[in-house]
Amino acid sequence: MSATSDHSRLETSHDEGVSVFDRARKLFLRYAEPLELETRHPGQGLPERLVIPDKSIIFRLSLQMDDGSIRFFQAYRVQFNDERGPYKGGVRFHPDVTLDEVTALAFWMYIKTAVVDVPFGGAKGGITVDYKSLSRAERERLTKKFAVVLCREVGQEVDIPAPDVNTGEQEMAWMLDAWRNTTGVYQRGAVTGKPLDLGGSLGRREATGKGGVIVLLEAAREAGIDPSGATAAVQGWGNAGQYAALELAKHGVRIITVSDSQAAIRSRDGLHVPALIDHKQQTGSVAHFPGSEPVDHGTVLTSKCDFLIPAALEDSIDETVAPHVQARFISEVANGPTTPRASRMLFDQGVTVIPDVLANAGGVLVSYFEWVQNRQEYYWSQEDVADRMTTKMKSAYEQVARVATENAVSLRQAAYQIAIDRVARAALERGGQ
Ligand code: GLU
Repeated sequence: MSATSDHSRLETSHDEGVSVFDRARKLFLRYAEPLELETRHPGQGLPERLVIPDKSIIFRLSLQMDDGSIRFFQAYRVQFNDERGPYKGGVRFHPDVTLDEVTALAFWMYIKTAVVDVPFGGAKGGITVDYKSLSRAERERLTKKFAVVLCREVGQEVDIPAPDVNTGEQEMAWMLDAWRNTTGVYQRGAVTGKPLDLGGSLGRREATGKGGVIVLLEAAREAGIDPSGATAAVQGWGNAGQYAALELAKHGVRIITVSDSQAAIRSRDGLHVPALIDHKQQTGSVAHFPGSEPVDHGTVLTSKCDFLIPAALEDSIDETVAPHVQARFISEVANGPTTPRASRMLFDQGVTVIPDVLANAGGVLVSYFEWVQNRQEYYWSQEDVADRMTTKMKSAYEQVARVATENAVSLRQAAYQIAIDRVARAALERGGQ
């Protein structure tokens, strides 16, 4: 039922635009060059060791639908790298999920955990499914089947899943339940992003969006920009986008335009964020939000504003969009929202881009706090979580900003250099495999 495959083909003729993972790997290798890993540590297999996933699990899931019929779905878990600690990363249920995408997402996870210096590696999982079209009972059966197939591959010391696109507390609860029933062990730390009742952490729900705003406002503050009265555009109105908007609004930023997968809206006076969250909850979309006007999807990314928050899927900002971006700062709350080419263009245009591997690391950071609390079975207050998170995010930002300034490189390149250095050191300390 399950098979493993590796990615031993390091060279590829793919152009930019063909494979997300190929692009991610090429970018990594470019950023790794100044570290001279091969020259400094000849014969150690660096950096190949860092760009080939440890294990890719590909499996088929069968699901009995409510009407009795059987349907099949493709599922994946890529455990990319565990040099610094157990594999860690979310689970995505979306019709566009492919092995290539999951591999890229797993790759970014281990870089992200190294950037914020939490003791994890990187992994990602997914099912290619139009999850929103399933009934609640079908969703539960599918999620539990996914978890059961992976039950020997995960665990709090091995690989720890978490939410990602279209998954949340409910799915994490179902996975925990499936493992309890298949292994007989109630191990809360095997999954993060759980409901509070099952050992979730206060502050996890808002962590990704909030973390993206903490680092964004640090960058703005350094540039002498006062958030109160500033304007923002948010692309994507899922968990991360909503909490980023709430956090921005808390600092007096006006959210002037927002999109989700179905619609895009604008209000020059600013959108009322809590009301828009309720509206989406009730109607399933941001469309027809009272007091807003509909706009073209693309205009969200190119609106005139101070802050742009891409909080949807990969490759939203490519070389056709980049020249039209008018925001001064971008905080990449989504994973991989900017293609490498667009990233270079934005750097040349003077747009400050807080890269995904730092901007959205608040999620895995509070996942780490949740895992620590689960292991101790001792739970922290909201303030404890918020304080520790803010301290960690600010310190990660400072380190990245310092390396960027010292080397006159982008924040993305600086973040990668820090991460590659940390992971390479761990790999060398562990020795050959
Ligand atoms: N899916 C989130 C991410 O991409 C969270 C991962 C986690 O908490 O492990 O960072």
